[in-house]
Amino acid sequence: MKFHQMTHQTTVKNLSQPDNSEFGELTLSGRAVSRGVSIGTVLCLHGRKRQFYRRPIEGGATDKEIERFREAVEAAKEQLTNISEGTYGGGGDRARIFETHRLFLEDRSLITQIESMVSEQRVNAEWAVKVVIDKYVSRYKSLSDKHLQEKYIDLEDVGERLLSALGGGSQQGYSLNENTIIVATELNPSTLIELSKRNPVAVVTENGGWTSHTFILARELDLPAVTGIKGLLRAVETGDRMIVDGFSGQVVLRPQQDTAERFAAFKAPEDTFNLGEGDAGALETLDGHSITIRANLDITRNYGAAGRLGAKGIGLYRSEFLFNQNRGFPSEEEQVETYSRIASEANAHGIRIRTFDLSIDQIAGGRLNKEKNPALGMRGIRLSMRYEEEFRTQIRALLRASDGNHISIVLPMISDVGEIRWAKYVIEAEKNALREGRLPCGDPEIGVMVEVPAAVLSIERILEESDFINIGTNDLVQYLLAVDRDNEEVADWFRTLHSSVIESLRIVIRAAERAGKPAIVCGEMAGSPLYVPILIALGATELSMNVNSIARIRHLVANIASEECADVLKKIEKLDDGDAKDEQVREIYREKWAHLVDFEHLLSFRRR
Ligand code: PEP
Ligand code: MG
Repeated sequence: MKFHQMTHQTTVKNLSQPDNSEFGELTLSGRAVSRGVSIGTVLCLHGRKRQFYRRPIEGGATDKEIERFREAVEAAKEQLTNISEGTYGGGGDRARIFETHRLFLEDRSLITQIESMVSEQRVNAEWAVKVVIDKYVSRYKSLSDKHLQEKYIDLEDVGERLLSALGGGSQQGYSLNENTIIVATELNPSTLIELSKRNPVAVVTENGGWTSHTFILARELDLPAVTGIKGLLRAVETGDRMIVDGFSGQVVLRPQQDTAERFAAFKAPEDTFNLGEGDAGALETLDGHSITIRANLDITRNYGAAGRLGAKGIGLYRSEFLFNQNRGFPSEEEQVETYSRIASEANAHGIRIRTFDLSIDQIAGGRLNKEKNPALGMRGIRLSMRYEEEFRTQIRALLRASDGNHISIVLPMISDVGEIRWAKYVIEAEKNALREGRLPCGDPEIGVMVEVPAAVLSIERILEESDFINIGTNDLVQYLLAVDRDNEEVADWFRTLHSSVIESLRIVIRAAERAGKPAIVCGEMAGSPLYVPILIALGATELSMNVNSIARIRHLVANIASEECADVLKKIEKLDDGDAKDEQVREIYREKWAHLVDFEHLLSFRRR
């Protein structure tokens, strides 16, 4: 059950009185990352790369399940042999380690225990792998011999490999109970996309940041979400009742009847601001500065709502969400169909499609050694250069779909002009090939994501090679401040208003203006009422955001003057970049815009 439009009096904080802890009710505090309040039943997800839950198997189907498991074991062994023999760049000392991993899979006792669990308890192979591997891991951990004890890491690795080989990520065909609340240590965006088709009502995790893709998606899906609750999976079980407050960041486990009743009774139909689908006309600040709002689209939901809310096309379409860990890259035809469909909905305002911004870990499905720093690793344009065939397929699809549609291509993670030139060379070659084959083909503009500090410092050259730029503040903050955007532990260091971020934005926006090239701010910053006045003061005129932010931002922009924004920025720039900055900034906002900004429920400030 979801109640989105609640005022702050309705949040759980006020509902968990009186103290019901003696009845097993437990209130936990985390960080709110997607607005709304829900009550439902917990479904615990397990696994890191491939996420799954305990699923019953019908009597007759256990043999098939065991067969599936045996095939996975063989596939995992083959991968390990390939790695030790160097097929994936292994060899040398590594060979020994992976040979040990292979030997685990030869261990009859381990394999038999997993198979017996499937047949006796009639559960899915993923679940049996988890339970048996966990048991072995704790056994190793309790050994006194340090050397043997450390073997648990290898076992965990083998478990992950097995789960990958099982393709455990696919939840297809299994239904969720009504009002399911997804609970996980960390939730993969692809798992959330798959489960979202079965209408869960909230997400709660131990880890993840406000700008992590999982929570960007949760906000797009209108799913209340809370993260940063340590030890959560030790406290809950599948089937527990739970209330999730995506405003205050509180979660009530096993709520007693009076708490649940108070929760339901406090449902208020009105939000503080009018968030309905509003006037879709031109948008200006009070002093006449025109601001264009576009939509960020990550899943192929229809664009209709964004258009009705006044979005002028799609500023960022994250095409990597079409990649599926079980099915791999989408085919050329599938891509042509998807891109054409969304582009025709966005109509004359157009759509900027970003080429796959994937990491090697996502596409290798556990076959390769994990990268130590995936955010600094083989991802974005670098991965496209490595997997040129797949990139060419995507480019062909984009060129074909842009025939008669307003599509532009955005290249992710650009750090030097050489990468842009390479992509343009490929695009030109594919265009010529399509034309020679007399296939329909458009002539899209080509722009880049500015999201790496190197791109900021070489922005003049980058602009010479680009038709436009998209400023990705999520990664820009991450890389400028060396703060992992997906890591809840360092969320307090993810400082969107750090002076280095403000200065970088100033450099980039001014350079684009001088070059006469459009610049869209499309990170989460562009959809937050706390940051939009700063962006306006810095000269931003185009903002691309989650559909659910559009009404709130329109309301704000239409009721502030850019001069006031400039004053606020001046004050903010005088502040130190320390811990107190957020609260001081909030105070500045309260003085000016308390009537416009819903301070109690804003999610973008660090809060506990
Ligand atoms: C960004 O980095 O700000 C951005 C818009 O892209 P993503 O969030 O997909 O990395
Ligand atoms: Mg990015």
